Amino acid sequence: MALTDETPRTNRLTDPLGTAIPSTVPTHWYNLNADFPEPVPPHLHPGTREPLTPPDLAPLFPMALIEQEVATERYIEIPQAVREIYALWRPSPLIRAARLERAIGTKARIYYKYEGVSPVGSHKPNTAVAQAYYNAIEGITRLTTETGAGQWGASLAMACSLLGLTCEVWQVRASYDSKPYRRFQMETYGSVCHPSPSDLTEAGRAILAELPDTTGSLGMAISEAVEVAAKDPGAHYALGSVLNHVMLHQTVIGQEVLVQLAAAGETQADIAFACAGGGSNLAGLTFPLIGQNLREGTTTRAVACEPAACPSLTQGEYRYDFGDVAGLTPLLKMYTLGKDFVPPAIHAGGLRYHGMSPMVSHAVNLGLMKAVAIEQDDAFAAGIEFARAEGIIPAPESTHAVAAALAYARTVTGPEVILIGLSGNGVLDLPAYASYV
Ligand SMILES: *Cc1c(COP(=O)(O)O)cnc(C)c1O
Repeated sequence: MALTDETPRTNRLTDPLGTAIPSTVPTHWYNLNADFPEPVPPHLHPGTREPLTPPDLAPLFPMALIEQEVATERYIEIPQAVREIYALWRPSPLIRAARLERAIGTKARIYYKYEGVSPVGSHKPNTAVAQAYYNAIEGITRLTTETGAGQWGASLAMACSLLGLTCEVWQVRASYDSKPYRRFQMETYGSVCHPSPSDLTEAGRAILAELPDTTGSLGMAISEAVEVAAKDPGAHYALGSVLNHVMLHQTVIGQEVLVQLAAAGETQADIAFACAGGGSNLAGLTFPLIGQNLREGTTTRAVACEPAACPSLTQGEYRYDFGDVAGLTPLLKMYTLGKDFVPPAIHAGGLRYHGMSPMVSHAVNLGLMKAVAIEQDDAFAAGIEFARAEGIIPAPESTHAVAAALAYARTVTGPEVILIGLSGNGVLDLPAYASYV
C-alpha cells in the first residue's frame, strides 16, 4: 500500500467489460500527515484515555481504513476498482467564473471546483466509494450509517449498490419526515432508511421511552447505526466526515485542482475558500495545496467557511471531545462547541456538527489555515448571485464558501487567483432557497 513520490500519477483504467478508459483520475490520495510540522494528536479510547489501538476499532471498520487513520506516508495508492468508479464523474471540472467576475467587477481571477457532478450531487461519494470498497474486500456484506439531511446516506447507498453491499441508514426523524427526496434516492439505490430514533435498536428504544416525541438528532442516529454494526459480525459502520481517512479520500479534489490550475496557466491559487461542517470537502480541496506550501514554498492561503450558527472553529475550544452526544465514540482532539451543543435548524444541514475534523483543527491550530463565520442570509444572497451569474445553484453548505470568496473578491485590487470549493449543487435543497427568496 505504501508508495513513494516517484510512483507514476497516470495510468489506464478499464470499465467492467475490460475496455480501456483513458483517465486523469489521481492514482494516489495525498496525506497531509506526512508534511504537518507536528504530528496530529491521536484519537483516545473513551475509557482509558490512551491512544486508540487497531483492535479498538476493528468491530466497526475494515483494517485498511484503520491503517489509513494513522498513516504517515505522503501518498497512498487508490485501488484500481475505486479509480474506475471515480472515473464515472472524475476529474470534476475546475471552472473559471468569468461571468461572476464581470458581475462583481473584480480584478481577481475566480475559479470554482465543482463537486456537484457526482451522481448524488456532492463530494461525499469520494469517500463513500473508498469505504464501501475496503469493506467489500474484507468480506463485509452490510454497512450501517446515520444521516441528517441525507447527503451522506445517499452517497453511501450509491457506493454500496455499485460494490454489491447492502446499506442501512438511520436518518434523523425531522429530516426523514420533512425532506423525503434523499430517502427516495437511498431507496432507489436499494438501501433501507429508518427514521431515528427507531424501535429497532436498544439505543432507539431507550430514547423513545424517555422522549416519545423527539424529532431525533445525529448523535442519536449514530448510536443506533453503531449498535447494529457492532452486533452483526457481517456488518460495519461508515462515517462521512471528521475522521482522518475521510479527509484522505477527499484529497482527489485538491490534487486535480493543482493539475487543472497549471493547465489554465496559473502558478498557484492565492487563496482558497471551502465550507466546513465536519471538514472533509475543505480538507479535500486545501490539503494538497497546503502540502505544496510546506514542501515547495507556494503561498496559498486556505480559509474554512463555517456557519455563524454553528461556529466550531471560530468560537469553539481546541480540546478532546466526543464525536457523538452519548459519549460512545473515541475522544477526538478538535475545535468543539461541546458534544451537547444543539445548533439551530439552519438550512445548511451538512454544517450542523458540534466539532471539526482533528486534521483540519490541527491545521487551524498550527496557523496553516484560517476560519471565518458566515451568516445564513449572507450565504443565501451569495448563492443566488452565483446562480444568476454561473447557472449552477450551489448547495446551501457551499454558499458559505461562495459568500466568503465574494466578500474577499470585492476587496482585491490586483490580479489574484481565488479558488472556491463548490462542494455540491442545491437541486434537492430548493425549498431552502424558496424560503429565503
Ligand atoms: C455534507 C456536506 C458538506 C459538509 O461536510 P464536510 O465534511 O464539512 O465537507 C458540505 N457540502 C455539501 C454539499 C455536503 O453534502
